Amino acid sequence: MSGFEGLTVVVTGGASGIGAAAADAFAERGANVAVLDLNESPKHWSHQCDVADDNQVRLAVAAVAERFGRIDVLVNNAGIGAVGTVEENSDKQWFRVLDVNLLGMVRLSRACLPHLRESPSPAIVNTASICATAGLVNRALYSASKGAVLSLTLAMAADHVAEGIRVNCVNPGTADTPWVQRLLDQADDPAGERARLEARQPTGRLVSAEEVASAIVYLADPVNKALTGASLAVDGGTQGLRIVKA
Ligand code: NAD
Repeated sequence: MSGFEGLTVVVTGGASGIGAAAADAFAERGANVAVLDLNESPKHWSHQCDVADDNQVRLAVAAVAERFGRIDVLVNNAGIGAVGTVEENSDKQWFRVLDVNLLGMVRLSRACLPHLRESPSPAIVNTASICATAGLVNRALYSASKGAVLSLTLAMAADHVAEGIRVNCVNPGTADTPWVQRLLDQADDPAGERARLEARQPTGRLVSAEEVASAIVYLADPVNKALTGASLAVDGGTQGLRIVKA
């Protein structure tokens, strides 16, 4: 018996990339998976939902509860990118990215918490980024949104620890998903740009969506009862390692 047999896992942004890999991983371990995304999941039960719209979030979470009768795990993973310095991004861009990347997680958590309280092994896993803890050039807005996700994770872990609800986050490095492929496709030389990105990784390759998904499953796994308020970097050593040639 898997630890997720009979449990219901909600994955936002589960129609693509890291979220899709997480949806697969939970389903392989026996969970009922509900994908909430702008797009339909080709593989799992899904409900179209913009996490930036509170009404859509409430309706989508109600639809999950009606379909599966319970919600045990929430994976807050939907997110969008932004490139630029503080001088380059407008207020409108800031509001939009924070609305999706930060408030989206707040809305989903608010809607799911009453259901999580009924679960014997409730957990929330948020997808932050290495940008949350490192200064990356030209990523002020995106980094601030992910830094806020890290703080939200800690604050929610504290707020809900007494009721047994664990809240953790995963911090992926550059992961090989449709998102990154879209960025590469915009470069003059996509193959050269990919090679440059890979050379920047201590491992010499990008992180796979499945590797991030595996960490998400670990953080959500009911056996890891002591894990709360944790952030787990899945970045091929990008932040932690300094490779010095002797
Ligand atoms: P992706 O673009 O492949 O998938 C993102 C999914 O989120 C898509 O299915 C999209 O439809 C959905 N989505 C976007 N906006 C939404 C909204 N408003 N409401 C509902 N769904 C929405 O991206 P990915 O690379 O899998 O990224 C997933 C998460 O991982 C994001 O939060 C991202 O910030 C984070 N992340 C990605 C990387 C990376 O290198 N790929 C690195 C660090 C963190």
